[in-house]
Amino acid sequence: MPRTKLVVGNWKMHGVGSDLAEIRAIADASSAYPNVDSGLCVPATLLERAAREVAPFPIGAQDVHRAAQGAHTGCSSTTMLLDAGAAMVIVGHSERREAQRETDAEVRAKAQAGLGGGLLVILCVGESLEVREAGDAVATVQRQLDASLPRDISVDKLAIAYEPIWAIGTGRTATPQDIGEMHGALRQRLVAAYGAAGQSIRILYGGSVKAQNAAEIFAVADVDGALVGGASLKSEDFVPIIAAAAAAGEG
Ligand code: PEP
Repeated sequence: MPRTKLVVGNWKMHGVGSDLAEIRAIADASSAYPNVDSGLCVPATLLERAAREVAPFPIGAQDVHRAAQGAHTGCSSTTMLLDAGAAMVIVGHSERREAQRETDAEVRAKAQAGLGGGLLVILCVGESLEVREAGDAVATVQRQLDASLPRDISVDKLAIAYEPIWAIGTGRTATPQDIGEMHGALRQRLVAAYGAAGQSIRILYGGSVKAQNAAEIFAVADVDGALVGGASLKSEDFVPIIAAAAAAGEG
């Protein structure tokens, strides 16, 4: 089943109003690659301005609360993200799983909240270096995925990001062989969970993706795009990754 590549930038806690010009440059340049779905997940403070500035280029958030509203100081609901112009949201990023102690059950609830409102949800999973070195990466990440996957809801707008924690922001990337093994194992779990619909869900790789390694990563079976941190901050770094996805074509 052909899957259109998806390349999304995660700006993390970077970006203020003066960076809207960079977002505009990325959005404009991405229009040269209509066979790739691309977008940027920006800080909450930039969301509405960015979405307004570059519509219809997809702008997303980096987290969402499971509830629609209520006494949750500092949090944003799906309704609020949609109101601000968001088209997508990242859930379960390892930086949040670690720093905010988000559990798989919490991540599942967030994914369900996002999908329920019609957002494209990018659900992140990935193993620590200790787990990788102990030879337990595939089984661990499969368990994490099983426990985080949304249930009883349409998964048409669900994407998975496999992000080995030790590769995020470190300049280290998993080998194409390890990426292929993990993405194949995750595909099996998606099909086990959702049947044929599991074949359509895009599995992104994340972890120090750059222009220099993107083509090699996109050539791996079951790699349907990338979640990109540091290299998404500048159009001159990010757009070549979108171009590499365009050259790789559908998976
Ligand atoms: C990320 O934060 O999701 C990420 C993959 O970061 P980087 O590309 O900087 O490793």
